[in-house]
Amino acid sequence: MKYIGAHVSASGGVANAPLNAAAIGARAFALFTKNQKQWSAKPLESSEILAFRRNCEAGGFDLAMILPHDSYLINLGHAESEGLSKSRAAFLDELQRCEQLGLSLLNFHPGSHLKKHDEETCLRVIAESINLALAQTNTVCAVIENTAGQGSNMGYSFEHLARIIELTEDKSRVGVCLDTCHTLAAGYDLTTRETFNTTFAEFERVVGFRYLKAMHLNDSMKGLGSRVDRHAPLGEGKLGLEPFRWLMNDVRFDGIPLILETPQPERWAEEINLLYAMSGTAKPC
Ligand SMILES: [Zn+2]
Ligand SMILES: [Zn+2]
Repeated sequence: MKYIGAHVSASGGVANAPLNAAAIGARAFALFTKNQKQWSAKPLESSEILAFRRNCEAGGFDLAMILPHDSYLINLGHAESEGLSKSRAAFLDELQRCEQLGLSLLNFHPGSHLKKHDEETCLRVIAESINLALAQTNTVCAVIENTAGQGSNMGYSFEHLARIIELTEDKSRVGVCLDTCHTLAAGYDLTTRETFNTTFAEFERVVGFRYLKAMHLNDSMKGLGSRVDRHAPLGEGKLGLEPFRWLMNDVRFDGIPLILETPQPERWAEEINLLYAMSGTAKPC
């Protein structure tokens, strides 16, 4: 079964996210559990946690299909000790918030070297950051997102993802989220049946589908190998609709959150309907 949703607003409190997701006919969703543009946030109150869980239950959401995203400020591969320790503390707080909410995944961008150390060193620092955070938490899985490779962002190749996993001590609590826009922009073609198959065969060979915990479904404004991260509505970018049809009919993408981060929230309900129609399963009522 496919679990399709979008990165919905949690403005006014995390308990609003499941309401916003239910309103667009989603069966999965992503959210920020705190303001993503600030380093710190006040702890979640027990009343907020209860309201979140109640709204998830009322909306029929399986907590395993909810994919929180961490703050954009966090850089787990930082070369400088101050930036790194700030990032590690904030990442730990994000994981703890997920555990408080009863969620099992945390999606994050691996980090950037900022031209201050080389890629292999950066990957090692990222893995060490993950190890430290997992050692201080109990259940949440750290879900590394592949990137478009913009600037000095790591995670643009399947080899980067595999290397971080290789260096992670608890492999039962690490996984990946593939973003279709980032995948194309990073140089992995998905636009023909043949290249779609080759790209995912390579993913299986280098990383392995057993580590695939989520997908971000976005079309891409920029083309193959552009290394530019610009999302487009489904069918209106360089991917077109066909790759999404193939995804929707491929069992390798069953049972994980499939999240839209397309630029026009007012079209999410329509995009979710379109994807469910492609998969041949009726929209949940
Ligand atoms: Zn994404
Ligand atoms: Zn993106």
